[in-house]
Amino acid sequence: MTTAYLSIGSNLGDRQQHLQTAVTLLKAHPAVNQVVVSGLYQTEPVGPVQQDDFLNIAVRLETTLTAPALLDFLHEIEQAGNRERQIHWGPRTIDLDILWFGESVINTATLQVPHPEMANRLFVLAPLREVATPARVATVTGLIAATTDTKQVMRIGEFEDHANE
Ligand code: AMP
Repeated sequence: MTTAYLSIGSNLGDRQQHLQTAVTLLKAHPAVNQVVVSGLYQTEPVGPVQQDDFLNIAVRLETTLTAPALLDFLHEIEQAGNRERQIHWGPRTIDLDILWFGESVINTATLQVPHPEMANRLFVLAPLREVATPARVATVTGLIAATTDTKQVMRIGEFEDHANE
């Protein structure tokens, strides 16, 4: 069993519903357990393209999947969310990234863990701190203190999980 951390974001269409669908699909996977979801964050988009704000959450989960198998599953969720990616850096229905996968360090063409951009993204780090285990909180707090990201990241409430309704 491995503890994995994910970042999930949406800035197109019914953003909250897209996050909900992603969480519901994660919880429904037989090899995924103990899914813990952060509060809901509204964040300014990064990059040159004019687009709506993102909604972001972070998730901690336990899984018996390998990291590549988890990534494949995240891609299935993105496809189920009917992700539209016309423009690089542009708006996206749903985007899921693996931040940490246990203590693994992975550097393949399709998967880099820890996620190479996480230290540069406050919208990843702020929700991540909420779901971090006590052993990880200090690390995330240090990354937040050190990041040069100045984009506005606002906690707008709890993530209201309707997965079991
Ligand atoms: P993007 O949707 O722009 O975030 O990029 C998606 C691609 O990034 C995927 O096709 C993955 O192969 C690759 N990738 C590399 N490392 C990761 C990671 N830690 N989590 C998710 N995707 C990753």
